[in-house]
Amino acid sequence: MKYNKIFKKVNSELANFENLGNVASYIPELCNVNPSKFGVHLTTIANKHFNFGDAVEKFSIQSIAKVLSLTLAYRIEGENLWQRVGVEPSGTPFNSLIQLEHDLGIPRNPLINAGALVICDILITHLTNPKEELITFIRKVSGIPTIDYCSRIADSEKSVGYKNAALINLMKSFGNINNDIDEVLDFYFNLCSIEMTCKELSQTFLFLANYGVCPFSKEIILSRSKSKRINAIMQLCGFYDEAGDFSFKVGLPGKSGVGGGIVAIHPNKYSIAVWSPKLNKKGNSYKGIKFLELFTTETEVSIF
Ligand code: GLU
Repeated sequence: MKYNKIFKKVNSELANFENLGNVASYIPELCNVNPSKFGVHLTTIANKHFNFGDAVEKFSIQSIAKVLSLTLAYRIEGENLWQRVGVEPSGTPFNSLIQLEHDLGIPRNPLINAGALVICDILITHLTNPKEELITFIRKVSGIPTIDYCSRIADSEKSVGYKNAALINLMKSFGNINNDIDEVLDFYFNLCSIEMTCKELSQTFLFLANYGVCPFSKEIILSRSKSKRINAIMQLCGFYDEAGDFSFKVGLPGKSGVGGGIVAIHPNKYSIAVWSPKLNKKGNSYKGIKFLELFTTETEVSIF
């Protein structure tokens, strides 16, 4: 497939759409980004690379990192994980509190904030140095030793983390958080602060396009069955209350973050990362979703 040619075509089609939306402002540091940035990088499982625009500029991957903490927790806990967090789409915004009370402190899925906080709690229980061990794991999965947290963004998020504090307190009251609340929040804010370029992000997620095996190192990150399940969760829960719409228009499992990044994978083919900081009302990258919709329309290939 001539991806570079397709990228150019899709980009010229994009010129017909106004880049709507706003950069996330509820985390002060996320406002300091140029809203017109736009990058794309696709890595095939045969290690071929295709890119467009600002593909090698770092950005805050935010919630996309939740898939990676989930992967590590799933390796450690296996199926026991699902006693603490569900696998159903939430149909609510990423930081919603409402469902959590009805569901007695069990988050609908691991990709909304409440679910990711439970995953952080689980990792803290199992790991001696959670922050260090998680970033080491992510570096191994990606094959990129320079991937790191950004303390500026973590601190910025901590300074306004009222909703996440409310979520974790509510879950603690239901007995679904075992560790110290501040420790879990600190780990969570650091998780969300990880920075990557589109190239790094697409490379990091390639194991999910390759049935759990990192195609570069040949290392088994997840079993075939667990890899399928993570993809199923991304398909159903990766875009908060816009997951149905993404599935309908793009047809690939993926995950977004409020930094404007999106990663999507096509099993047995590729992993693609897109970055455009302006978000729609659901908190997903406006132009990123539009690009992927036009891309899978143009390639006529999706998982369906
Ligand atoms: N760090 C963000 C928060 O907790 C993550 C949200 C997101 O990317 O969806 O609000």
